[in-house]
Amino acid sequence: MARRLSSQKLLKNKVLDAHLCTGCGACVGLCPYQAIYNDRTVQLHYCDLTEGKCHVYCPRTPTDFERLRQLLFDAKDLTPEIGAVKAYYLTRAADSEIRDAGQHGGTVTALLELALAEDLIDAALVSSGQEQYLRYGTIAADKNTIRKSARVKFIVSPMAAAFNQFVREQQGRAGVVATPCQALALAKMKLTQEKQETKKVNQLQLVIGLYCGWALSMEKFSALLAQKSIMIDDIKRMDIPAGKNILELYTREGVKEIPLTEAQACVREACNYCIDSTAEYADISVGAARFAGTDEEQRGWNQLIVRSERGRALIDLAVKRGVLEIKEAPAESLRQLKVAAMGKKKSALENIARKSGSANKLLYLDNGDAMVKEILRAKA
Ligand SMILES: Cc1cc2nc3c(=O)[nH]c(=O)nc-3n(C[C@H](O)[C@H](O)[C@H](O)COP(=O)(O)OP(=O)(O)OC[C@H]3O[C@@H](n4cnc5c(N)ncnc54)[C@H](O)[C@@H]3O)c2cc1C
Ligand code: SF4
Ligand code: SF4
Repeated sequence: MARRLSSQKLLKNKVLDAHLCTGCGACVGLCPYQAIYNDRTVQLHYCDLTEGKCHVYCPRTPTDFERLRQLLFDAKDLTPEIGAVKAYYLTRAADSEIRDAGQHGGTVTALLELALAEDLIDAALVSSGQEQYLRYGTIAADKNTIRKSARVKFIVSPMAAAFNQFVREQQGRAGVVATPCQALALAKMKLTQEKQETKKVNQLQLVIGLYCGWALSMEKFSALLAQKSIMIDDIKRMDIPAGKNILELYTREGVKEIPLTEAQACVREACNYCIDSTAEYADISVGAARFAGTDEEQRGWNQLIVRSERGRALIDLAVKRGVLEIKEAPAESLRQLKVAAMGKKKSALENIARKSGSANKLLYLDNGDAMVKEILRAKA
């Protein structure tokens, strides 16, 4: 009889070597054998466990999406394009200092600060920088640390590894900022039936998802910057402004612009196989607002999807406390979001089929799943 492969070996064969690894960090910090090196996940030693959590929690191993959706959301809220939608708004932080500190409207920072101040969480897991522009998850137990970690860099920050570290070191409750792949990994942890794991998962009180088109590969992006004589550590902020096909880099010497096509040539390969652009498995998802208005007006606002009861309660509280400014989003914004989200799903399925060599072999996805069937129907 053939020997069963260990979980770690399966992860290596089916995810790491297949370039499906998103760098989410869900497999890191559970044991001493998996680690992060720059923006890559590496295996330091061999492990022969066949029921390893590294494989179970990975967002690029098979997932019972049907069960996950049942567990987390109201069936009536589910949409094929962007997952569960209880409500959809344009939002920004009411506090102009948070808006100035934030990437767009500062909504994520305002919500995390509120959750901490109202004792809904004991810490926020946010992303901070390191030398050479690398990102990592930080446990922020005070407002200043949350605010200092505002804005984004389009480089992977292994937030699920930060959650693993948090539950290893602390007993409290966490709110985590996560890209779609990371939100899926955190959601997969909630499917666990094991008592010890359930205790940890109960510490996960809130997931604020970020919309995500792609993340840059550190290696490819560094090479591009070197060609353009831009020092990577000089970049203080980056953005893709509405209506312009450029990546803006805010450096000490002013704003530098890179054509989007050049930046997109530096995207992590794993992002080509990703079907989620709005963090469908989060409580709340936040992205850049797109509506009729000047670029500057749009830059100062977010669009926000409320997905779960927990998300609903936090937004209601934010309105009650005057922490967020909220506007009903125009129906056209939602329509455009759904079209863009379905576009990403379709091209990811095409890329997956190309990689596997068959339209019937969808790697980490199951063509019997209702969501996948909807994408296939939309593609036909
Ligand atoms: C890789 C990546 C790709 C993105 N692509 C899109 C896109 O295509 N379309 C779109 O509308 N929005 C995208 N976003 C989200 C967008 O850039 C903003 O984060 C979002 O609009 C929230 O804005 P804000 O003003 O509320 O954020 P802020 O209040 O500034 O808060 C941002 C939060 O994100 C955390 N963070 C920073 N970097 C990372 C990271 N790499 N991983 C996880 N958390 C991080 C920060 O610590 C902070 O808590 C992307 C974000 C990332 C990280
Ligand atoms: S859990 Fe995340 S970091 Fe680990 S192999 Fe899977 S995608 Fe990569
Ligand atoms: S595109 Fe998908 S895989 Fe890539 S960073 Fe964003 S959520 Fe993760």
